[in-house]
Amino acid sequence: MICRTERSRVLTTAAIAVALALATSCGSDKDSDSGTLGTIDGSSETSDDEGGDEGGDDTVGNGSNLQGAIIDFGEGKTEQSYDELLDSAFVDITQFWADQFPAVYGEDFEPVSGIYAHYPEREDLPPACDGPVPYSEVEGNAFFTSCGDIIVYDDAALLPGLVDKLGVAAVAVVAAHEYGHAIQQRAGVFNLGLPTVDIEQQADCFAGAWTAHVARGESEQLAFGDEDVKSGLVAMIEIRDTPGSDVFDPAGHGTAFDRVGAFQEGFIEGVERCSRFIEEPNPRVDLVFSPDELETSGNLLFGDAVSLLPPSLDTFWVPVLEQNGTEFTPPTLEGYPTDGPYPECDGRAEEEMKGHAVFCADTNTVAIDEQFAGNLYNQLGDLSFGYPIAAAYGDAVQTALGTGLEGEPRVLLNDCLVGAWLVDIVPIPGTEEASNPEQKIVLSAGDLDEVVVTAVILGDDASNTDVNGTAFEKIDAFRSGVLGGLPACESRLR
Ligand SMILES: [Zn+2]
Repeated sequence: MICRTERSRVLTTAAIAVALALATSCGSDKDSDSGTLGTIDGSSETSDDEGGDEGGDDTVGNGSNLQGAIIDFGEGKTEQSYDELLDSAFVDITQFWADQFPAVYGEDFEPVSGIYAHYPEREDLPPACDGPVPYSEVEGNAFFTSCGDIIVYDDAALLPGLVDKLGVAAVAVVAAHEYGHAIQQRAGVFNLGLPTVDIEQQADCFAGAWTAHVARGESEQLAFGDEDVKSGLVAMIEIRDTPGSDVFDPAGHGTAFDRVGAFQEGFIEGVERCSRFIEEPNPRVDLVFSPDELETSGNLLFGDAVSLLPPSLDTFWVPVLEQNGTEFTPPTLEGYPTDGPYPECDGRAEEEMKGHAVFCADTNTVAIDEQFAGNLYNQLGDLSFGYPIAAAYGDAVQTALGTGLEGEPRVLLNDCLVGAWLVDIVPIPGTEEASNPEQKIVLSAGDLDEVVVTAVILGDDASNTDVNGTAFEKIDAFRSGVLGGLPACESRLR
């Protein structure tokens, strides 16, 4: 988020306890330090590839002669933990499309001509139409190229790095995304002159549709549990664009908010929906950094975030509840130490306080673990910090409205309400004015991604835990609030 008035007076780090007590205006306190999970950034000029940083082990030497069912591993490849799974995934993806493609596109399906693992020692190079592909062309990437109708992936850096970070299911989801580009080639999508981001969104949607098929237990090759689906979601985040990128950038893949949304759309709706993504894409929220924001990553200084978030929530919610004829006194924000002592909060147990933000009805406060909040701010950014506060505020709104929801449905409605509030501070395109002129802060590029990544961290591990909602459910609820506003959230009450 950015402040609409003065900004960027950078002071030194202050303890969050002190900062929470500060009542500052824009421009105070702490510089931002907005590391993310690590963006893998597209760098090739071809439009149908995944970018990559160098990551993973340097797995060179002691080559073996692996035989893939469908992948051409070449000679002398170093074995990788995911070889077998990736091979099975490609077999299954091919079978999936052999079933789906004729049904959706009304034409026969031809599998890709080849799938190649690539690594520096490989001598029998993958054959593209304009000659063999040297390793340097795929280093840090995975791509489909219609020139030769082949998929090539970096087996020495990109994939080992993804597996290290996200687990093996992530490489299968990346495989499904790449195969999605082959489908687009067969469906004639590359001839339409579309922005790269639209092409990528459809490939993400295809990847989501295939992931759902595996998660439903329809694959003879693979089985995905909730953790695997989550790792697929996170793979979408990992190969996102740097927030604030131009959507017409040829290397652009879209923000995490958009990419995860496309993946989810495919997961829920299936291939037929994805095939219509070209004419009816998911709504996108394209936020581009202003030059100032590039310096701060669009993050409010910490003290500003503390002092400006609650009034922004008040500015949105007070009139909404007034119009509804609901009595509502805005809650106040209060911090507490991570190890206590905790404030009295409607009889909540200690484990409900540590690492949480909660609404306490008795005292009408939004109470937050200061260390938890400070870590979110430091590691991910200002809206990562703002999200649990806004969700607890949503809980105050639900209490006032008497929604009667409990447990996971209540938490997911809070996630939706966070999204609905943000609609109020989306900038009018080309300006730094919020859509509600009463608002003092506006959303900046990267903010929505901060919520998406935080939802992954805060979500339940399994879909049957039913406490906070899984990352998938939380992001789905949040996105529906951002894209559909309050009416979308109201529909969760029925
Ligand atoms: Zn792609």
